[in-house]
Amino acid sequence: MKDRFASLCVKKLDLPEHNSPQQLPLVLSSSFAFETIEQGIDIFTGKDEGFVYSRYGNPTIEAVTRRLEALEGFDLPLELQGYMTSSGMAAIHLVLISLLKPGDQVLTQANLYGGTTELLIKVLGEQDIIPVFTDLGNLEQVEAELQNNKRIRALYMETPTNPTLTCLDIEGLTRLAADKGIKTIVDNTFSTPYLQQPFRYGVDFVIHSTTKYLNGHGTGIAGVVIGRDTPFMKERFWPVLKLTGATCNPFDAWLVGNGIRTLPLRMERHNTNAMALAKALSDHDQVERVNYPGLEDHSSHALASRQMTGFGGMLSFQVRGGQSEALQVMNRLKLASLAPTLGDVDTLVLHPATSSHLKVAADIREAQGITEGLIRVSVGLEGTDDLVQDFVQALG
Ligand SMILES: *Cc1c(COP(=O)(O)O)cnc(C)c1O
Repeated sequence: MKDRFASLCVKKLDLPEHNSPQQLPLVLSSSFAFETIEQGIDIFTGKDEGFVYSRYGNPTIEAVTRRLEALEGFDLPLELQGYMTSSGMAAIHLVLISLLKPGDQVLTQANLYGGTTELLIKVLGEQDIIPVFTDLGNLEQVEAELQNNKRIRALYMETPTNPTLTCLDIEGLTRLAADKGIKTIVDNTFSTPYLQQPFRYGVDFVIHSTTKYLNGHGTGIAGVVIGRDTPFMKERFWPVLKLTGATCNPFDAWLVGNGIRTLPLRMERHNTNAMALAKALSDHDQVERVNYPGLEDHSSHALASRQMTGFGGMLSFQVRGGQSEALQVMNRLKLASLAPTLGDVDTLVLHPATSSHLKVAADIREAQGITEGLIRVSVGLEGTDDLVQDFVQALG
């Protein structure tokens, strides 16, 4: 009796086959069963569609990936193929190692997300995939660079940039690269496809840290790579992903799927709150400068107005004085929290000079406008007046 009882306990449990659940099921299964061994062989050899093993693909992850492709390609006559990854960093690493080989170079900007700069120098650089940092805002310089350096095989851009919110001309840069057969990659984390669709301007790949606005609630770490060259994605990118094992996990994908459903509502509110806060800070006499592309005096205002459908939830501002004044303001905030991420529902502030950009040499930092008094704000979804009042009281 005990023997058959034990077998019954161990036996695979099946979902009853009725109508589907309204919410996406979270499929926590490392592997997928085959009805017959012939079916297994057909799926393994790619003759039939189906799941094998969650490092290769998983229903929850695929459902969310299909939605991310649809959003990045919204209203565009393109067939896109994406894969979710274990983090935004994994997405960046994987797209670059699947595209490039030792001896190749990647043209990019100095003011990247800090982790991206470190990845390019410390990991890829040591494998002889060399980053070339230039001012991607200067198209003539970029053209000359591409003309003179035949080893450049990829152009990697992030717009708007962290933390000064400078924007890059995606269309202009992509045209220069495409002329020379150089692949273009955009980190679209700050904008999300709701505010900016790089594929509209002809880029080859879009990557995201979905950890930020797409998840939106700060509850998971994940990333995605989406490409327009479907065969490349399936035959080159996917094998690199599955063999390096940097796959997304189903729960983090599920959280992104949940977050996406309120993306437009959240982004609209991020936009209005950030604009209100940017204006209030601009009017404050303890504030020297506000970086927000929605402000008419921001160097990228015209470009952002053209390229984006909203100015987003990120801004930074320079407190009069220096580091000690900035830190005092940060400690006095009551509604906003001190946390080193962005894109969550709550307002988060960070001091770039002592955190995200700590490892960047002080002179380079200053040249990029990352001064000791600069505070970065990921503006959340709080009541607008409440939020503005919090910063006004903190500025004293
Ligand atoms: C956070 C972030 C990354 C890295 O993503 P992780 O999910 O933390 O690995 C890359 N690019 C940008 C712009 C980011 O904000």
